[in-house]
Amino acid sequence: MEIEKEVKKMALGHEFGAGAACLKCKDKCEGFELHFWRKICRNCKCGLTEHNVQMDTEENKKVGKLFEDTKYTGLIAKLKKDGIPSYNANMITITLPAPAVPKGAPMKSVTYEWAPPVANKHLAVRYIELLPPEKRPVAGTEGAVYRRQQMARQLPEHDQDPSKCHELSPAEVKKMQQFVRKYKEEALGVGDVLLPEEMALVQSAEFGPTGGATGTTSTAGAMGGAGLPQQNYSCQHCGQPMRLGEPAVYAERAGYDKLWHPACFVCCTCKELLVDMIYFWKKGKLYCGRHYGDSEKPRCAGCDELIFCNEYTQAEGHNWHLKHFCCFDCDCILAGETYVMENDKPVCTPCYMKSYAVKCSSCKNPVDPEAQRVSYGDHHWHAEPQCFQCSGCTKCLIGQRFMAVQGFLFCSVECKKKVLP
Ligand SMILES: [Zn+2]
Ligand SMILES: [Zn+2]
Ligand SMILES: [Zn+2]
Ligand SMILES: [Zn+2]
Ligand SMILES: [Zn+2]
Ligand SMILES: [Zn+2]
Ligand SMILES: [Zn+2]
Ligand SMILES: [Zn+2]
Repeated sequence: MEIEKEVKKMALGHEFGAGAACLKCKDKCEGFELHFWRKICRNCKCGLTEHNVQMDTEENKKVGKLFEDTKYTGLIAKLKKDGIPSYNANMITITLPAPAVPKGAPMKSVTYEWAPPVANKHLAVRYIELLPPEKRPVAGTEGAVYRRQQMARQLPEHDQDPSKCHELSPAEVKKMQQFVRKYKEEALGVGDVLLPEEMALVQSAEFGPTGGATGTTSTAGAMGGAGLPQQNYSCQHCGQPMRLGEPAVYAERAGYDKLWHPACFVCCTCKELLVDMIYFWKKGKLYCGRHYGDSEKPRCAGCDELIFCNEYTQAEGHNWHLKHFCCFDCDCILAGETYVMENDKPVCTPCYMKSYAVKCSSCKNPVDPEAQRVSYGDHHWHAEPQCFQCSGCTKCLIGQRFMAVQGFLFCSVECKKKVLP
C-alpha cells in the first residue's frame, strides 16, 4: 500500500554565500557550498571570500525588481540569462595607503560590499569613513552584517511583489500593484553623493544657465575657486554645517537645495541609515521602505505584510488580517474568541491555561485569565472562599484583613503560629 505524502516546501534560511560564483574558478565552480567542517567551498576548495558573496543573489534580484520601471534603472542590469533584473551593488576593494600598513607587513586591502556609485573612488571611500564604524559595509565585519539585516528589514520583498504575499485575492493584488506603481512614481529614489561645493553645478544644470546669473562675471575672480556661487549648506537632519571638501548626500526627490551628512541620511521613523541610500520621500521626510509602507497602509502584525483588504482587525495596538489574528502557540483563529497577550503575542485560552497561567497557591490549579483572583507578591489565589482562606482556621478572607507568609494566608498571628511555628 502506498502512503501518500504531502511534500511541503519549507522556506530554508540558507547558508551565507550559498551558491555564489567563485571569482577565481569562474565556471568551474558550481557555486559556493560550505564544506561541513573545513570552511571552504566543497565545489572548488576556495574560501568564502574568493566567492562573489557581497549579497545574496535573491537580495540583488529584490532590489533590482524594486527599481524596475523607474528612472533609476541605471542601478540595475538586466541579466541576459533569465531576464530578471538584478541590482549591482557597487562593491569596491581598496588597498590601504602605505602609512597605514606597518613596514614589512603585506599590503592590506579592504572590500566594501557596497559603496556609493560615484566615479571618484576617494569620495566613495571618504563617504564610508564618515559612517559609524559598526555600520561601514566592510566585508567580513559587523557592518556588512548590519547592511544585510537592514536590507531585509527596510525593503521587505512582500512590500513590492504580490507573489511574495500569502494568498492575496485578485482585488488585493490589484490594489497592491497600484500601491507599488504609486511609490515608484512619487517616492522611491536613491541618494547621490557629491561635495557641497559641487551642488551649485548640479543646481545650475538643473535650472539651466539663466540670464540672471550673467551679472556675476566681475566678481568671479574674487571667489578664488571656480567662480561659482558658494552657499553655506547645513545638514537637513542635524542642522550642522556641511563641510566643503567632505562628501554630502542629496536626494533628487527632496530637491537640490537639501544636503545630508552621510551618517545623517536616515529613516525618520527607525533612524537607521537608509540602506544603500535607497529612500522614500514623503511630505518633506525621508523614510525607509518599511516605514514608508507603514505610513501608507496598515501592516499585519501576524504576517508582516501590508493590508490591502477592507476588512481587518485592530487588537493590542496592532493591525491584523482577520485570518492572521491567531494563537501564537497553536495557530487557531482568535477572531471572536477570548485570548490573552503573552510576551506581546496573542494566545488562546486553552494554550494560556496549559502553558502560561499562574497557579493558585492554595489549590495549585491554573487561574483562568477571566476568573477573579487575588495577587500578593509572587503569589496568586482564586478569589473564592475555598482558596482564599486562612491556612489556620479556614475562615474566608475575601474582603478581610490578612497576612500572607510564604504562600500561606492567615487571619491572625495566632493562626500563623499554629501553622508556621
Ligand atoms: Zn567554489
Ligand atoms: Zn574557487
Ligand atoms: Zn548631519
Ligand atoms: Zn525606517
Ligand atoms: Zn497577515
Ligand atoms: Zn492556542
Ligand atoms: Zn485555587
Ligand atoms: Zn484563621
